[in-house]
Amino acid sequence: MLSEHDAESRRRIPGTDTLLAEPRFTAATSALGRDLVKAAITQAQDRARRGEITPEDVGDTAAGSLPPRASTLRPVINATGVVLHTNLGRAPLSPAAVAAVHAAAGHTDVEYDTDTGRRDLRGRGVVDALGAAVPSAEAAHVVNNGAAALVLAATALAPGQEVVVSRGELVEIGDGFRLPELLESTGAVLREVGTTNRTRLDDYRAVLGPDTGFVLKVHPSNFVIQGFTSSVSIRDLAQLGATVVADLGSGLLSPDPLLPDEPDASSALADGAALVTGSGDKLLGGPQAGLLLGRAEIIEQLRRHPLARALRVDKLTLAALEATLRGPETPTWAALRHDAAELHARAEELRDGLRQDGVTSETVETASVVGGGGGPGLELTSWAVAVDPGLAAPLRQHEPAVVGRLERDRLLLDLRCVPSDQDSTLRSAVVSAWHRQARSE
Ligand SMILES: *Cc1c(COP(=O)(O)O)cnc(C)c1O
Repeated sequence: MLSEHDAESRRRIPGTDTLLAEPRFTAATSALGRDLVKAAITQAQDRARRGEITPEDVGDTAAGSLPPRASTLRPVINATGVVLHTNLGRAPLSPAAVAAVHAAAGHTDVEYDTDTGRRDLRGRGVVDALGAAVPSAEAAHVVNNGAAALVLAATALAPGQEVVVSRGELVEIGDGFRLPELLESTGAVLREVGTTNRTRLDDYRAVLGPDTGFVLKVHPSNFVIQGFTSSVSIRDLAQLGATVVADLGSGLLSPDPLLPDEPDASSALADGAALVTGSGDKLLGGPQAGLLLGRAEIIEQLRRHPLARALRVDKLTLAALEATLRGPETPTWAALRHDAAELHARAEELRDGLRQDGVTSETVETASVVGGGGGPGLELTSWAVAVDPGLAAPLRQHEPAVVGRLERDRLLLDLRCVPSDQDSTLRSAVVSAWHRQARSE
């Protein structure tokens, strides 16, 4: 039984329609939609019924718990020190790419020629930009991701035929994603040659024949084999006369002196690869996409294959990719090049600011890595601010979320991938996490 006081209190809880009519909730309804606003209101009303808040607080509580946006995807400050973190969306888009996405979000001329008023090739701008970036490619095509590029290549170029690949290159890329299984799912037959550590040109030569669809060269982009090893270069493979497809993974279009061991599309094509595949959101620093570059007749064969339609990219991807290719250097490019001294200075400033706010912290020299996109084994000297590991959870729940790296019983906030204009946001996130933690103790 409710006491008289409780019953009276319940009667004072404002009704849903009354609250929805308040200007702050009508504004929220146009930004977020009615369902999300109603859910926040219902939750606050329930709390009042349970006596956790007073009826007078229902409106403010509901307004305070409105989600910041209609999607559950949240912005994250990447303080992990992993430049291309697959779980955190790999490459962050450049402001130029973000602007292009914004412009293309409504109706856009993605397949339309505004001069003639007729239909045009979808994504012509991206294909032109790829051609300009890789002059040795006769043609280019774009699909959803690197895996899709490989599937299209295997399906169109080796139907029921053999894909010849070295045993040392049968790699697992990410969480259970195994390249051999992907290739076999297309119906192509994998013809493995050589051993895990050594494969020679003769191993390839011995199996080539009428059943060969193509020879695949895969860049082991997330590990290195050291010691008694040998592999065959694209240049040597090209001498065999078979079609050579190179899966480069990283999407690097031309050589990068910072990553001397990372293969690039221009060099692979110059060395004789007929087709190269790569990702848009790794070292290229753009949106998720699969790049296919190579000989004109091969690209045409891929483009015309029925499967190509199922792997077609969205207008937003095309916009972001073209702006990445034509626009200024990307945040990924910059993150790989931040100078250790500059990161050190930022870390000291952050530490000083945190200490002023009463947060225990210190600066730590650390090593960042390239991550899911390439440069295996490469370590970049970086600087982090170390804080109490108990801050990890409240920082993850902060808006924007902050994800650091737990190391030896402390939480490291590596500044390499934190845009410098976010240092003050990071500082206030840590301070508010510190206070939340103090309250919950
Ligand atoms: C990352 C990678 C892929 C898969 O690319 P996605 O864009 O993640 O689908 C394939 N091959 C190699 C060598 C890679 O590094």
